[in-house]
Amino acid sequence: IPKTDAKETAKPPDGDKSDEEEKEDRAAQSLLNKLIRNRIVNNTNQVEVLQRDPNSPLYSVKTFEELRLKPQLLQGVYGMGFNRPSKIQETALPMMLAEPPQNLIAQSQSGTGKTAAFVLAMLSHVHPANKWTQCLCISPTYELALQIGKVVEQMGKFYPEVKLAYAIRGNRIEGAIQEQIVIGTPGTMSDWLTKKKLIDPKKIRVFVLDEADVLIGIQGHQDQCIRIQRKLPKDCQMLLFSATFEDTVWQFAERLVPDPNIIRLKREEETLDTIKQYYVLSRNTNDKFNALCNIYGAITIAQAMIFCHTRKTAAKLSKMMAEEGHQVALLSGELTVEQRADIIQRFRDGKEKVLITTNVCARGIDVEQVSVVINFDLPLDKDSNPDNETYLHRIGRTGRFGKRGLAINMVDSEQSMAVLRAIEEHFNKKIVKLDTEDPDEIE
Ligand code: ADP
Repeated sequence: IPKTDAKETAKPPDGDKSDEEEKEDRAAQSLLNKLIRNRIVNNTNQVEVLQRDPNSPLYSVKTFEELRLKPQLLQGVYGMGFNRPSKIQETALPMMLAEPPQNLIAQSQSGTGKTAAFVLAMLSHVHPANKWTQCLCISPTYELALQIGKVVEQMGKFYPEVKLAYAIRGNRIEGAIQEQIVIGTPGTMSDWLTKKKLIDPKKIRVFVLDEADVLIGIQGHQDQCIRIQRKLPKDCQMLLFSATFEDTVWQFAERLVPDPNIIRLKREEETLDTIKQYYVLSRNTNDKFNALCNIYGAITIAQAMIFCHTRKTAAKLSKMMAEEGHQVALLSGELTVEQRADIIQRFRDGKEKVLITTNVCARGIDVEQVSVVINFDLPLDKDSNPDNETYLHRIGRTGRFGKRGLAINMVDSEQSMAVLRAIEEHFNKKIVKLDTEDPDEIE
């Protein structure tokens, strides 16, 4: 399998964050993306396919009808407002629904339709007359498991004979599970299969592992998944999904999924071509704050996002701006995921004009409508070197879908000037000085 480009791999932990906290962040980010996303992420790239049997023809579908789904499921799919399969679904669905079942490892960024695809596969493969568990779906956390369950319920709305149970901590069950689909976290799932024997592993026909990249970051999860997988019949269909594909994910996937087909969809490339980049020179942090207040009027013509390096700076900035009478929202790591989702939703709905946030907190969140990005602090990696990748992520737009944008970088020391120059050189794109005494300069 080809190596991923750096963008798709996990980023180094931020500042003083430990690895463990970083991994927890990934689960939170994933949930956050699910909570705020209401539509498919566009992608014009071609899917890369590696077939287990390279001689077998590769099917891809352009409509859901071609899949010859049960009418109740087709109704469910249309009921969700899906008109046609997403890019990854075009190829993944025929593979997952083929007879005999095929194993699949699929990678594509969050929001491209993986969950909807495997939920449809699970619903298609169950025999509702059989009152025992036939599909297992593993998810890294309780909250993410519930999100999958919601999709099962929506898609299976017209197929009420199929029932769903959650193998999550605290869910006490007496006697064998009768629900055809069980979604859960690795620990409890393993418990139900082995210790408690609530599920007969030999009767499982579909085994799904979602968010493998998040999952392998959590202590003990890998081993539990492997323990579960070993108990399943040889002909059980194994499906593994991941948003990113580092080497560690790949190694895990290979151990878990024998003879897989592999599908990958690269992220849409980001570019700085449609972005005007400026910098503002200040003497110190206070001066930066004043400069920001000067341009507040100009930036709030559109929506703006302001990035700070630490939670402390972000909180201070938001307080200072509020005291000046400027309305700002603060997205901070202290908030629960639901609170964060709520703030991002308000911002997306245009109820908030300016969103102040930190690097870690905003990572992996795409707020497409933002046309002004302000780096109150320039992005640095964990060794305090210029972080070009994060810069591109914050400012860049995907070529096809991107609107024009504006980036303003706040510089307040020789060091930060050096960082700016390094970024300028890296992308070979001029960053122009902006005079904040004359904000009309901003177009
Ligand atoms: P992923 O699992 O890759 O993050 P999801 O399956 O959660 O992606 O899909 C992301 C969003 O797109 C969801 O809101 C989902 O309802 C929607 N979606 C999925 N497939 C389609 C489709 N074929 N057409 C329209 N919307 C879709």
